[in-house]
Amino acid sequence: MKREKSEALFAKAQTYFPGGVNSPVRAFRSVGGTPLFIAKGKGAHIWDADGNEFIDYCASWGPLILGHANQKVIDAIKQTVENGSSFGAPTALENELAELILSNNKYVEKIRFVSSGTEAVMSAIRLARGFTKRNKIVKFEGCYHGHSDSLLVKAGSGLVTFGNTSSAGVPESVVNDTIVVSLNNEEAVKQAFIEFKNQIACIIIEPIPANNGLLLQRKEYLKFLRDICTENKTLLIFDEVVSGFRVGFTGAAGYYDIQPDIITYGKIIGGGLPVGMYGASAEIMSNISPEGNVYQAGTLSGNPVAMAAGIAQLTECLKPNFYIDLEKKTQFLISNFKFQILNFKVFSIGSIFWIAFTDKKNIRSAEEINPDSMKHFRILHKELLERGIYLGPSGYEVGFVSEAHTEADLIKTAKMFGEAMEEVMK
Ligand SMILES: *Cc1c(COP(=O)(O)O)cnc(C)c1O
Repeated sequence: MKREKSEALFAKAQTYFPGGVNSPVRAFRSVGGTPLFIAKGKGAHIWDADGNEFIDYCASWGPLILGHANQKVIDAIKQTVENGSSFGAPTALENELAELILSNNKYVEKIRFVSSGTEAVMSAIRLARGFTKRNKIVKFEGCYHGHSDSLLVKAGSGLVTFGNTSSAGVPESVVNDTIVVSLNNEEAVKQAFIEFKNQIACIIIEPIPANNGLLLQRKEYLKFLRDICTENKTLLIFDEVVSGFRVGFTGAAGYYDIQPDIITYGKIIGGGLPVGMYGASAEIMSNISPEGNVYQAGTLSGNPVAMAAGIAQLTECLKPNFYIDLEKKTQFLISNFKFQILNFKVFSIGSIFWIAFTDKKNIRSAEEINPDSMKHFRILHKELLERGIYLGPSGYEVGFVSEAHTEADLIKTAKMFGEAMEEVMK
């Protein structure tokens, strides 16, 4: 495979950006080799700067549920931008996207649009603290919530620990209010509520943790979190930046039928443009400024072009059988990954899948992932790339099937998978 153009572009990029990239995982450090510079995408396919073609399962890390360059999304963007790209004043398009979401999602009553998942989560945490007048938050090891300070923490040792900063530049004083516990562990959560009685503003969880493998939780565990939050007047935040509009239009809240207090969305909601959102009951949302005293604002929030892209994409998602068909495709793909080796599994939910080298039947917490197993993924990733299949460049990342993947794409993927796995097993 020719890589000259990507290599030249990456060399240049390294003179401009730290590590040559504007978001770290793109640098391919965990799989090795040069990141491909992408020139074009259409449907389920992407082409790199050297003209190599790939079937894509990264989907820009999830947003592109209709595939690349969907015609309806393109038309909506073009039509809208002809009339200007931003006003810093309200537009009808914000109402339209809000109406589309709220009339099809009973889990939120009022919302606020922002421009990224990070911003949505950061604002949701502020809202929870403002509403409860408490400072401490509980998060889970293995859940990613964007890069805001109080969430860039890793667990210390012990059942219930204050987080340790996982990034330079995040003061201990900030993470001292973040309590990190293991997923799928009721005892740890109970312990946190005993140790920090009446101090915990919120529990935040990815109800379908998909940023550190796919750590599918038991419904009973999510219900347990719901109940313990209610008992303690603590808010439950579902970070649905990945799962929202992915496992169904109403995300994980709808999938498990659990009512969280605040929900955050991102990724799919913007049709490939930068949009995030947080929402809650009208009562909780009334704390947001200018109605309430929790401040949150954005120059480009509710950007009309991004709203139009979101409306076009979500309108497609609402068509009958959209999610059923996506799940069928995903199951078809996975059922064709047939390898009689003991330590290989594909975990999935809806159109999300995760390739894991493990002999465990389930993996529900970060500690259950064997870091050493990633050496197999590195080979798999490289061999698949050589064969025209593009996965996110890390074994901790999940893959996404889109509406644009055809049966031929899935069959080809399964075939290449078989070949690549032969190499892994050598
Ligand atoms: C991607 C992601 C975020 C951060 O969103 P950005 O748009 O990258 O800021 C937050 N939470 C979850 C669950 C995510 O997957």
